Amino acid sequence: MTTLADTPTTTGDLRELATRALDRCGADIGALTGRTTLDVRSPITGEVVATVPMADTADAEAAVQVAHEAYLVWRAVPAPVRGALIKRFGQLLTEHKEDLADLIGIEVGKIRSEALGEVQEMIDICDFAVGLSRRLDGRTMPSERPGHRLMETWHPVGVVAVISAFNFPAAVWAWNTAVALVCGDTVVWKPSEAAPLVAVAGSALLARAAEELSAPAHLNTLVVTDADGAAPLIDSPLVPVVSATGSERMGAQIAPRIAARFGRSILELGGNNAAVVTPSADLDLAIRGIVFAAAGTAGQRCTTLRRLIVHESVADTVVERVASAYRNLRIGNPFADGVLVGPLIDKKAFDGMGRALDEAVDDGGVVVAGGERVDTGDPEAYYARPALVRMPGQTELVRRETFAPILYVLTYSTFADAVALHNGVPQGLSSSIFTRDQREAEQFLAAEGSDCGIVNVNIGTSGAEIGGAFGGEKTTGGGRESGSDAWRGYMRRATNTVNYSTELPLAQGVDFS
Ligand code: NAD
Repeated sequence: MTTLADTPTTTGDLRELATRALDRCGADIGALTGRTTLDVRSPITGEVVATVPMADTADAEAAVQVAHEAYLVWRAVPAPVRGALIKRFGQLLTEHKEDLADLIGIEVGKIRSEALGEVQEMIDICDFAVGLSRRLDGRTMPSERPGHRLMETWHPVGVVAVISAFNFPAAVWAWNTAVALVCGDTVVWKPSEAAPLVAVAGSALLARAAEELSAPAHLNTLVVTDADGAAPLIDSPLVPVVSATGSERMGAQIAPRIAARFGRSILELGGNNAAVVTPSADLDLAIRGIVFAAAGTAGQRCTTLRRLIVHESVADTVVERVASAYRNLRIGNPFADGVLVGPLIDKKAFDGMGRALDEAVDDGGVVVAGGERVDTGDPEAYYARPALVRMPGQTELVRRETFAPILYVLTYSTFADAVALHNGVPQGLSSSIFTRDQREAEQFLAAEGSDCGIVNVNIGTSGAEIGGAFGGEKTTGGGRESGSDAWRGYMRRATNTVNYSTELPLAQGVDFS
């Protein structure tokens, strides 16, 4: 564990730590393909910590081609043997947990505990995928015809393109890749331009596992590029599944292109998550849940709590208590002990936060706490105190996702109003209710309650476990990843009818003799 004594503070420290972590993972930036370069900045100081080659469309096309060729071999390997690769990969992730957490801290500014948590999530999905490799099960249904068997079988589908966002720079890839590989697919990964280093390290560990187990090369091909360079991942007919995580804007750009060629998309887009706090809520528990969900990861999780819908009878108390917790949050270098809020990813994010707060005030909102920049002495680093804003209603601003730590407070008087406010946004990712009233909890979980993909009771909106399927509805994109039966999104289903009789009866009693 990094301690205060060895907290990397200068850009030189960060560079050195990154080099060490990459070396330990056996990762070689120089091996990346590309004729141009990409500067990697650490949000901790705002300065460049590395420069990596950047691929173009021709490189991305070549990556798709080699991934397709690897798929033709990999699909015939028995699933439990594919699982053995993921088992070894999980062991390597465990061995290199600290190295990967270092890179996540450096590239995206996550506090230590959250960076380690992200790697733990990668390890957890490997465990899940290893089990899955022994049960990619299909059903058998009764046939209406004598001497016939009706069943379904699941097969690999091909190359899966994984496009990931900056805020979960490694775990989202692992969710997709561990499952896709046991399903018999291969992966081409385009990480966020903000976080290529952890991508190089994670890919190197997977390649090492593949080499040790004599698995084919190119099961996972890394393509460090921008939106333009990624075009073949979106448009190539050799990519039957695109799993893309990012903003609603990105989803709107790529979804029609994938649909136009009848590809399958797994979209994990923006959230605008809310918690309802009812009069019966355990406020001690609610305040803790709210502060972690709203301020954790500096408000840069897709599941970050962005709207608090509080009953009017407890609104003043809740606002006062959250504001007081906000004032005590330690903000600063995410490697330092005791720091709970690290930097925003860049100036653009900080400017977006400032513009949203101005608009909130123009709309009649009151900034109760936070919103100001915290000076750490690095002019290009952007640290912000999480903001708590009381709003007169659910304005257009509140209905948008601003990817920064802003929590809007709205009040309600009837439970029906609370649910209407809750569902009255375009996005549908995560939701929660704090209540001790079972009737309210059940109503929130029911069909006429929350319209989100994730619906929690007495915990916040963020921090999902890998065992469940993860994803959301409406403009969040409808995709599901990770646990439960999300694996079906990475396979194709075949319905098989086998006739073991000597007759040829037709379905529905059709006579064609
Ligand atoms: P972003 O949309 O700017 O970028 C995400 C990824 O998409 C990057 O790799 C980017 O290069 C790529 N991209 C963007 N446009 C593209 C295009 N036209 N073609 C191909 N690739 C393209 O998002 P970001 O700022 O990195 O991440 C924050 C956003 O991601 C937030 O909206 C957040 O809610 C969302 N997010 C959602 C989930 C989820 O599971 N629902 C998880 C994490 C983040």
